[in-house]
Amino acid sequence: MQQAVLWHLRQAAERYGGDLPLRVTAQLAEAAAAPIASPETTTTPRPPAPPRRPSPPPSHDEPELASEFATLDELRETTANCTRCKLHTGRKNLVFGEGNPNAELMFVGEAPGAREDEQGRPFVGPAGQLLDRIIENAIGMQRADVYIANVNKCRPPGNRNPEPDEVAACLPILKNQIALIRPKLIVAMGRVAAANLLSTTQSVTRLRGQTLRAHGVPVVVTWHPAYLLRNPAAKVETWEDVKRVNRMLGRPEVPGR
Ligand code: SF4
Repeated sequence: MQQAVLWHLRQAAERYGGDLPLRVTAQLAEAAAAPIASPETTTTPRPPAPPRRPSPPPSHDEPELASEFATLDELRETTANCTRCKLHTGRKNLVFGEGNPNAELMFVGEAPGAREDEQGRPFVGPAGQLLDRIIENAIGMQRADVYIANVNKCRPPGNRNPEPDEVAACLPILKNQIALIRPKLIVAMGRVAAANLLSTTQSVTRLRGQTLRAHGVPVVVTWHPAYLLRNPAAKVETWEDVKRVNRMLGRPEVPGR
């Protein structure tokens, strides 16, 4: 009978393609290690574990964040000379973020580029100009109506992606910004923003169109404007994402396209 249990569990292993749920793995190990039982002590074999359910959508939906600071200005002053990660050594300016401190819509990107580093303002280069056009033409707001920030506040050398230790050091600043602004919706632009807001390794392609939340705030994932400059065909998808933003904010659809 013990052999029958093993047979059933191995069948389950084959069905799962080797990627077994923990419970089945434990059963296999237990059955293999156990001595062959006498007929009097054998039991009816348990059916194999049911197939795995699809993994839940990525989310970093912790309880709503509480800020350690009273205002964005206080947070900005406290972090003005930040040296929490090695990116401080190469920066010209720390790019804290800017916009309406009571914005209902917040955009989050990756990290400053060369222009942003020069000016100490987020999204002021060609990608920023495209973001301005998206905000104005597709959402019907002005740049000053929203809040724009990055995961990292200092420019990585050569515009490389921020490294995990740099993200970990800087993320508390973004979390405090979210807690102070309390937006109705966050638009995560690109993989780095999406991955770190949602604690996921899923791609932008997988995350687009999903109903997501981070820190108590709904999140829409879309392409980074710099990606759109390199891949103009993806603007069609960004247009779809922006229509979702308008619906989620209860805003009228902006005509066009
Ligand atoms: S990137 Fe963030 S954590 Fe690193 S030095 Fe700049 S502000 Fe500080």
